[in-house]
Amino acid sequence: MSEYFNVADIFGENVFSDKVMQERLPKKIYKELRKTIDEGKELSPMVAEVVAEAMKEWAIEKGATHYTHWFQPLTGVTAEKHDSFITPTRPDGTILMEFSGKELIKGEPDASSFPSGGLRATFEARGYTAWDCTSPAFVRKDACGALLCIPTAFCSYTGEALDLKTPLLRSMQAVDRQAVRLLRLFGNTTAHKVVPCVGAEQEYFIVDAAKFRQRKDLIYTGRTLFGAMPPKGQEMDDHYFGTIRQRIAAFMRQVNEELWKMGVSAKTQHNEVAPAQHELAPIYEHANVAVDHNQIIMQTLKRVAHYHGLKCILHEKPFAGVNGSGKHNNWSLVTDTGINMLDPGKTPHENLQFIVVLACILKAVDEHADILRESAADPGNDQRLGADEAPPAIISVFLGEQLQDVVTQLVSTGNATSSIHGELLKTGVDTLPDFMKDATDRNRTSPFAFTGNKFEFRMVGSGDSIASANIVLNTITAEAFADACDRLEQAEDFNREVHDLIKEYLTAHQRIIFNGNGYSEEWVKEAQRRGLPNLHSMVEAIPSLTTEKTIRMYERFGVFSETELRSREEIKYENYSKIINIEARTMIDMAGKQIIPAVIRYTKELADTVVAVRGAGCEASVQSEMLERCSKLLVESRDALENLKEAEGKGTAMAEGREKALFFHDSVVPAMEGLRKPVDELEQIVDKEIWPMPSYGDLIFEV
Ligand code: ADP
Ligand code: MG
Repeated sequence: MSEYFNVADIFGENVFSDKVMQERLPKKIYKELRKTIDEGKELSPMVAEVVAEAMKEWAIEKGATHYTHWFQPLTGVTAEKHDSFITPTRPDGTILMEFSGKELIKGEPDASSFPSGGLRATFEARGYTAWDCTSPAFVRKDACGALLCIPTAFCSYTGEALDLKTPLLRSMQAVDRQAVRLLRLFGNTTAHKVVPCVGAEQEYFIVDAAKFRQRKDLIYTGRTLFGAMPPKGQEMDDHYFGTIRQRIAAFMRQVNEELWKMGVSAKTQHNEVAPAQHELAPIYEHANVAVDHNQIIMQTLKRVAHYHGLKCILHEKPFAGVNGSGKHNNWSLVTDTGINMLDPGKTPHENLQFIVVLACILKAVDEHADILRESAADPGNDQRLGADEAPPAIISVFLGEQLQDVVTQLVSTGNATSSIHGELLKTGVDTLPDFMKDATDRNRTSPFAFTGNKFEFRMVGSGDSIASANIVLNTITAEAFADACDRLEQAEDFNREVHDLIKEYLTAHQRIIFNGNGYSEEWVKEAQRRGLPNLHSMVEAIPSLTTEKTIRMYERFGVFSETELRSREEIKYENYSKIINIEARTMIDMAGKQIIPAVIRYTKELADTVVAVRGAGCEASVQSEMLERCSKLLVESRDALENLKEAEGKGTAMAEGREKALFFHDSVVPAMEGLRKPVDELEQIVDKEIWPMPSYGDLIFEV
């Protein structure tokens, strides 16, 4: 890491950016490539050949020895296979460095070991990666050396998507087309493209690597499966926005530097609510680039932590009792002429186009709340959503005072004649400036909140890709726009039809709006009264992927075929069972091989002490009571361990699918909780010297 530097000098230095392309490609080739990037024109082999050569030369100058098609299979993380540029040696024993257009455009990793959910059985194992030229190639530097990473989509031999990128790109295309249609209706003739823009705020935990390595649960599952709360948790709120400790600061500094070099616009960093928890947010960008960059951020956090003797934990709930981590997905729709369709302007009630967009999004979210919730489902998030630290599992929309007022006017009278404005905020201190308040306060408990000129979807898990959430947002919005356009394009009296449509949509879907406290018990009841789905867990959410309504929508916009959806459903059940199974086996291992033996040693020590103390003619009631309590908890732990072993065994024997996932959810998870309880009690009374692993206190307060 260099001493001090000017960010502008290093930003994007390892990116094959537009600037680099302009400098290095012949004008004609550059123009052709831009057409592919901007207008989706097919890339010719000749253009690819020239681009590949330029990319190779550039990467080699950066020190790259290998290239990889960097893709996002359905494992939730990225995959890569490195190939060096070298070709077979020449007669004189030297080598050439080569990279062809074919190698740039298409790769062929063996698809057979990636999740395909049945697609593999019906089709061939062959899979292809295809260059996504809308997300720039970049050079990543790590212990492997320098690697040219080419963002790609991953498909099966017959064209089914085997990744998250392909459907994301399809969904972006869908919303683009429908949004442009809508713009035309409102007289906009200059915009030719609408792109969903996304900024994802990433939360994470940092712990000491040496301590991390002493806990098998962290190693195997990324979260703690046992652990009693230390005397202090997050109740003092002294970590949130607190001074960043020097060891963490050095880590953050290197993370920023590496991200900037790779063209990721790391913008904000701060301590989060829980001790040892932090956040990093980049500046928003096109959804597919934002998805790639979020993966780069997660990888970089993990890699750089390693250099500092630290471990970055991306799990949604690594520690019970303190907040878990999520990812806020900020989303808006921006035209190629720079207009944000989600910007209400100063007087939203007069902005008819904005109100139609808003009404469409409310309709979309209300009609497809189930798949939006599903998009954030993973086993880790099951422990967060609805636990008073993250949004509930119920989807609702927060509009805030200003828009709520406009909606209320429209629903009651069909017309909106005014907009509430922010007032002057008086600080009461002469030397401080008074400033204008926002028209709307923040709301931190809503899963889908309007925040000025964007929606913030707050459910995504910290370790998850943001692709799924954006696929849903783009497609449901495309559908609502398409329905509205179908109607408005036929209208004889456009203005009247617009007013009718707005009133109708808002009236029919206002049940999805909720501006109150999403963490409250009353909201759960109220939501039930309104008939909103409350899908508590991942296994409850998965079926929404293949309802008739979902299939119809995705097929209509060519985002997913029914076969692709069914395969994804299958993969999700399998994933759920596998993750819980690993957690259960890890608990069995830790309890059986570490915790119970340690407690047995401790009880022996206590028993010996009781005998010795009594032998000395002294009172030994403290020791004997402690022995009694430990022995009792030891019995409880043993019984719970046996119970968990039995449940895990039964679950493992079942065939993959929904039944198995349900069994893990309904029987194995409670058995895990059953084992955790006596063990956590034991941790609080057993001598710390004897306890076989670092405590929560050691992990989160002593980084
Ligand atoms: P917070 O939600 O903590 O107040 P910000 O308002 O700064 O934070 O924004 C959080 C994220 O939202 C950032 O990644 C930011 O770039 C992104 N963002 C801001 N405006 C938009 C927009 N119009 N569309 C999408 N994302 C946006
Ligand atoms: Mg935010």
